[in-house]
Parts: sequence; C-alpha cells; structure tokens
Amino acid sequence: MTDIKADFLARVDAARDDLVALTRDLIRIPTLNPPGDCYREICELLDRRLTASGFETEFIRATGAPGDCDRYPRWNIVATRTGGGPGDCVHFNSHTDVVDVGAGWTVDPFAADVRDGRIYGRGACDMKGGLAASIIAAECLIAAWPDHPGRIEISGTADEESGGYGGVAHLAGMGRFSPARVQHVIIPEPLNKDRVCLGHRGVWWAEVETHGHIAHGSMPFLGDCAVRHMGALLAEMEAELFPALAEKRTAMPVVPPQARQSTLNINSLHGGQAEPDAEAGGYPSPVVPDSCRMVIDRRFLVEEDLSEVKAEFRALLDRLTAARPGFSYSLRDLHEVIPTMTDRQAPVVGAVADGVADIIGHAPEYVVSPGTYDQKHIDRIGRLKDCIAYGPGILDLAHQPDEWIGIQDMVDSAKVMGLALMRLLPGAAPDQGRQTGNQTEGMV
Ligand SMILES: [Zn+2]
Repeated sequence: MTDIKADFLARVDAARDDLVALTRDLIRIPTLNPPGDCYREICELLDRRLTASGFETEFIRATGAPGDCDRYPRWNIVATRTGGGPGDCVHFNSHTDVVDVGAGWTVDPFAADVRDGRIYGRGACDMKGGLAASIIAAECLIAAWPDHPGRIEISGTADEESGGYGGVAHLAGMGRFSPARVQHVIIPEPLNKDRVCLGHRGVWWAEVETHGHIAHGSMPFLGDCAVRHMGALLAEMEAELFPALAEKRTAMPVVPPQARQSTLNINSLHGGQAEPDAEAGGYPSPVVPDSCRMVIDRRFLVEEDLSEVKAEFRALLDRLTAARPGFSYSLRDLHEVIPTMTDRQAPVVGAVADGVADIIGHAPEYVVSPGTYDQKHIDRIGRLKDCIAYGPGILDLAHQPDEWIGIQDMVDSAKVMGLALMRLLPGAAPDQGRQTGNQTEGMV
C-alpha cells in the first residue's frame, strides 16, 4: 500500500496541468440554472473524459422534474469504475449547474482565466473545481492501483442550485444512493481543503399573504390596505421574532459562527399592482392594494422541530389577527428540508479526516453548512448516512462576482480524496474471530 500511495501522490502532482485544463473546460460550459442550460453538453464532456479513464457511463434525464423540458432537459451522468475484487462503493457527487452571473465582474465569467495560481469563472469554486479534483483523484488512484477493490462512482448532476430535484433527488428516487448499492458519498462542495462538512441546517420556505380591500387611491378609507397589514407583520417580526431567533443557539458547528442560530430572510415582498413596464412607460393607477405577499426563508437547527418552527410564525400571525382590525392572512408552504448531520465516527468522516491530516498537516475542522446542498436527498430519499461534503474552494466566494478556485487547493484536496478512496474501497475488515470460529466448528 505504501508503494500505491507514493505512486498515487506523484501522479496527482504530475496531473496539475491536466487538472487546470479540465477545470477550465468545465467552466467554459455555461451551465446556468435557471434556466438549466447546457446540461447535456457538460455530461458529454464528462462522458468522453471518464470513458477514456475506464469508467462505464450512464446518462439519466430527470424527465418530469421541475424545469425539465425539451428546451432545458435535466441531464445527469453517473460513471462507474468496477475494481478487481469485492469492496465498497465510494461515490463522488458534484452538481454541474451554476448560478446567475450577476453584476460586478472584472473578468469574463466563462473564459476561465488563470492568474496568480487561481482559475476565475462562474462555478470555479462552486463547484467545477471540486468536480475536476475528484476526477483527477479517481484517475490517479486507478492508475496507481488498477486492480483496486470495490467500485468508484462519479456523478455530475443537475439543479442543485434550485433544490436538486432534477439531479440527486431524481437519482436517489431511482435507488442510485441506496446503502446496498453505494456505501460512502463525498460531495466536493467548496468547504475548504481542511474542513469536513457533516451536514446542514434545515429550511422552511413559506409565502404569507395579507389581504385587503381594493378602493380608489384618493379615498383609502374606503378600502383596506394589504401593504399596511404587511407592515404591521414586519413590525411584529422586528419586535418579537428576530430577537427570539437570535436566542436559539445550536450545538451544530455551523460556519460562519453567526449562523449558529436560527435565521430568517425575507426573500421578496410584493404589494399592490405590478410595476409598470419600464419600456412602455406610463403611470400606475391609484388603487388601494388588496394583496401583499412575502416569501420567507427560515433556516432552522437540528435542535428545532419543523412543526414548532411553523407554529412560532403562525402564532405571530394569529396575534395580529386578534389585535389588528381587518387583519387576515393566508400562509402557504413552499419548500422544506430537515437538518442533517453525519456522525463524526462515520467511516467516510474518518477516511477524509486522516487524508487531511496526512496531506494538509493538521486535523480537519468539522463544520456544518448554513445552507443546504444535495446531502439532504442522499440522507432522506437514499437513506444513506455515510455522506459528507469535502472539497477545495472558499465557501464565501460561491455565487460572488470574480469567483475563483486555487490550483494548489485543488491539487491538495485531490490527494485527500484519493487517500480516502484507498481507505474506503476495501470495505470493512471481515470479522476474523467469527470466521475462525466457524471454520473450527466445521472442522469439529
Ligand atoms: Zn454548490
């Protein structure tokens, strides 16, 4: 094993330029989501690459998933390399989609410029650099250990940025993450090369609407303004809810530490008539708004129960209904995710932690992500618990302008991933004592 390890590490160092080229090729395919563009194209790139490296590949379209249509089909790829003997299956899962470019870039977001040891571009950090690192790790390990036991799987999946329903959730629904088939999952999201991410907080998205009564804007007393009712709710949230959320602390090691509490974001607020079309011009008409809608994004902790989270918000609304004349509301659930946290003693955690200690030179930091990622589907739908996020890149750069990934960070984390493969592929050591006992019994 010492020879395999030394050979593997030398191969990763030698593959540095290849790693950079692969990352740049991935960034140059603008897999923007929404709308969910170029999934087929990026799967084809991965297919060419991994087939040449000895993987068998499978294209899976999430037909009927949200957003899937003939113009924007949700294509996924799963590549499998079966080794020379029995062992465990280790699966690297990366999402191929990237978020909107946004403003503020000083470089072309899809040119994948290389400068000062960094590759720039939308998706460089989140998470095409991690995907490329996992491919190099697998390829170099296979070259150093062609008859490795077990199986290595690499998937490139759609739609993580919009909930993962056209990607990992679909594959998990097909049984592709059942523990009988896959034993360990590493998701190379950008959590930094020396951190092991055990899971994430929970999510509740809801839309609350306050109701009013339409009237002429010159005589608002004849109507009932839904925006003012929403204003009352916002005031109540400022006075009661936000301070209460700040008091709810968690034992989850969430990073950044400010997220070690419950949080709530107001995603959007729409009241009254739609804004006039800027190009068409014209003035709005004078009406009292009869509807105001707000979308909230509540993040909750492993210590909280989703039903309590909902009840807390509803209690606020019910207090207003009782206290404020004319106040009425409707509340609609949009999306929910239960928090997940893998046990620190789990095999994949230990294997990656040892790799970090070996390559980076110190024990990893164990963290939990403030936002969710595809681990939720692997846990809830796949029922597979031995799953973490580990990959190169600085989390804070995700979704930002001038996003970049450090080349040395990718090299280092590819080494960690390969060492974790060496540890995990042989599977759990057989129980020698019991085998001996059975043999003895048979002999008797
Ligand atoms: Zn990501």
